[in-house]
Amino acid sequence: MFYLSDVDPEVFGALRAEIERQTTQLEMIASENFVSEAVLEAEGSVFMNKYAEGYPGRRYYGGCENMDVVEQLAVDRLNTLFGSEYANVQPHSGSQANMAVYFATLDPGDTILSMNLAHGGHLSHGASVSFSGRFFNIVHYGVSRESETIDMAEVADLARKHRPKMIVAGASAYPRTIDFASFGAIAEEVGAYLMVDMAHIAGLVAAGIHPSPVPFAHFITSTTHKTLRGPRGGIILSREKYGRLLNSQIFPGIQGGPLMHVIAAKAVAFKEALGSEFKFYQQRIVANAQELARVLHEKGFRLVSGGTDNHLVLLDLSDKGVTGAEAENVLEKAGITVNKNAIPFDTRPPRVTSGIRIGTPAVTTRGLGPADMQEIGNYIAELLTHPDDDKRIREIRLKVLDICNRYPLYQARLARYEKSSGLAHTVPEGQWTNGGARE
Ligand SMILES: *Cc1c(COP(=O)(O)O)cnc(C)c1O
Repeated sequence: MFYLSDVDPEVFGALRAEIERQTTQLEMIASENFVSEAVLEAEGSVFMNKYAEGYPGRRYYGGCENMDVVEQLAVDRLNTLFGSEYANVQPHSGSQANMAVYFATLDPGDTILSMNLAHGGHLSHGASVSFSGRFFNIVHYGVSRESETIDMAEVADLARKHRPKMIVAGASAYPRTIDFASFGAIAEEVGAYLMVDMAHIAGLVAAGIHPSPVPFAHFITSTTHKTLRGPRGGIILSREKYGRLLNSQIFPGIQGGPLMHVIAAKAVAFKEALGSEFKFYQQRIVANAQELARVLHEKGFRLVSGGTDNHLVLLDLSDKGVTGAEAENVLEKAGITVNKNAIPFDTRPPRVTSGIRIGTPAVTTRGLGPADMQEIGNYIAELLTHPDDDKRIREIRLKVLDICNRYPLYQARLARYEKSSGLAHTVPEGQWTNGGARE
């Protein structure tokens, strides 16, 4: 049953094209994933229609009894998943979660010590084009030139010198384990808050594969849509004593009504993450990334930091005669989606870059394993070595399609779209269509 094809064929057309794109390409953007049908169902639901400003049991609107049920489920499951005391599931995004923590604890002009965007940090950690760079005084640490891992001695030196009110740990393009215990010790020494933004690695942390920041950080933020495999959104974890402060900073501090359909979908995703298969899934993400790293290294590619401990690899292409932008482009032609990414100490501008970031969370959700990574690693190496060989690109595109057919995704949904696109109008006249003159 579909209304969209009747009401709005243009949007429906884009939707069909998108499900086709997602199912017929290998999604290897490290920050993306595929949610379950159950998560999609919860988000695309009438929970969307409800205002529920406030928190469970303390709302500013009537009729919130079902909202209270789903939000409390989401909070309780999230605390169980990470062993935290307090959770807020209302942030609309990872950036909003970070904004709420900064605004709850800092005054404009206060100093934040965070990871350099050019070394793998995130925009919301103080980039000049982000709110975080406009409101606060930002000092950055980075990775060392030799090891390309975070230089904890530098972090400690900078903390002693600049006396930040907050230290931020967490990254978007960092292939190695982050030492949250050392960050915690440095924060304690200089009297700073420690915020860990675990957006990329939240799934690994939930599964116990990456050390948890919960014992060391005052505040933990995350997205829910990366390795955690939930809907797009954000969360904050903390100790109970910061709960009131954080609650009021999310609402009414920086947000209005919570997106209750998204919160329902978060609750479902957290239940999935508590299930026994989730740990196996996360282990396989890492095994796949490591196999990919091994193959690419064997083919003569240089990996930033020499390899990976997590879900992503960062390839340095500076000795390969192909830029990050060109690499992204040739891989996309062959049906492998990645993103260009600056490498540490990159000499090329951000829109060109000398690297690409390749992640395994989404293809692992599809069911691909290490043997498939070997095959894909070979294709990536071939494509990057012969970026202008159109015949080869076409051949690899067909092999990629073959892999996609071996690991089908959203099959039932696809079949329904196929069927519905040929159907005559099924929507009752005047209901939800513009025949009701409610535009
Ligand atoms: C993805 C990411 C975010 C931002 O999430 P949005 O939901 O896109 O705002 C924040 N921090 C880190 C480290 C990220 O990787």
